[in-house]
Amino acid sequence: MIIIMKMGAGEEQIQEVVGQIEEMGFRAHLSCGEERTIIGVIGDERLVSPHVFELMEGVERTVPILHPFKLASRDFKPEDTVIPINGMHIGSREVVVMAGPCAVESREQLLETAWAVKEAGVRILRGGAFKPRTSPYSFQGLGKDGLEILAEVKEETGLAIVTEVMAPEDVPLVACYADILQVGARSMQNFSLLHAVGESKMPILLKRGMMSTLEELLMAAEYILSHDNYRVMLCERGIRTFDEKYTRNTLDINAVPVLQGLTHLPVIVDPSHGTGRWELVGPVAKAAVAAGADGLLIEVHPEPQRALSDGAQSLKPERFAQLIKELRRVAEAVGRGIG
Ligand code: PEP
Ligand code: MN
Repeated sequence: MIIIMKMGAGEEQIQEVVGQIEEMGFRAHLSCGEERTIIGVIGDERLVSPHVFELMEGVERTVPILHPFKLASRDFKPEDTVIPINGMHIGSREVVVMAGPCAVESREQLLETAWAVKEAGVRILRGGAFKPRTSPYSFQGLGKDGLEILAEVKEETGLAIVTEVMAPEDVPLVACYADILQVGARSMQNFSLLHAVGESKMPILLKRGMMSTLEELLMAAEYILSHDNYRVMLCERGIRTFDEKYTRNTLDINAVPVLQGLTHLPVIVDPSHGTGRWELVGPVAKAAVAAGADGLLIEVHPEPQRALSDGAQSLKPERFAQLIKELRRVAEAVGRGIG
C-alpha cells in the first residue's frame, strides 16, 4: 500500500505516519516529490486496514499497489528517476550511450577504444574485467588487473566506467573502480549479489535475464531498491525465444514502453547482445531510441576479428561514430537528444 500525503503536509505528520507503519512491524519508504510526499508501506501489508492511515492527519488517501514490485512501481514514485553520471542525466530527455569493448583485454586495446568512443561523443565507457562466460575454457577476463586498466583509462580520458560484478564478495572491490556496477543477465536472479549491490549504494545497471519475464526483472530491481538504493537502470539485452539461428537473442522492443509504464527507473537497451551481429546493431539501436529508450549499451572494439569475446557483435570505431551521428537524427525526431 502507498500513503499519499496531502500537499503541504508537515514533517511532523509524515513522521507520525512513519511511526505508525513501523509500530505495525512494516518498513516505510519515503518518496519526496516536489509537491507531496508518498510513503510506501513495505512488507506483507495485506492484512492492514487502510483506514488506520486514512484517519491520520496530513494523509490524503491510501492506494493499494497491485503489482508484486512496490518501490520500483510508478504508483510509488510517479516521476522518472534520473541518475546523474559524469555530467549526464540518465532517465531524462537525453539518450545516454555507454560504449566500449565486451572485455578489457589490454591497456592499449581499452585506451584506443576509449578515445574513439569519447571522440564520438560518449562519456561512459563499458568494459568487463570479470566475464561471465558460458564455457570455463573461454577468456574469463583480467580480473583485478582489468580493473586497474579501467582506472588508468578513466584517469586519462575522463570517461566514467561501467563494469560487471559477478560475485557478492567482489562488490566492494569493483565498487572502488566503477561508476556503475553491471549485474549481468546470468546474475539477474543471484539474490545475494542483488543484496550486495543494493548495499553498495552505487548506480546499478541491471540486465534482464535471458529467460526472465519483465516482472522477474522488476522484482530483481526491487531487491536493490529495498536497500534504499534507487539508482538502478534496467537493461533489455534480448531474450531466448526459440532456436533462431540468424540472431543470438531476440531483442524485446516491447520491453521499453512496457517497463516505462510500470516503473520510474530508466530503461537501457543493449543492441549488441540483443542481436549478436554487428550489422544488426545500428538498425536495432535506432529502433530502441525511437521506442523511447533512455540509453544504449554498445560494444565497440578496434579489431573485432581479434576480440577475445563477442567480436561478432562489436562495432569498429568508425562504424560506431557513424551510428552515433545517425542516432542523433532519430533522437531529434522523437524529441530527444543523444548524451
Ligand atoms: C556483457 O555486457 O558483456 C554481458 C556479458 O552481457 P549479458 O549479461 O547481457 O550477457
Ligand atoms: Mn559482451
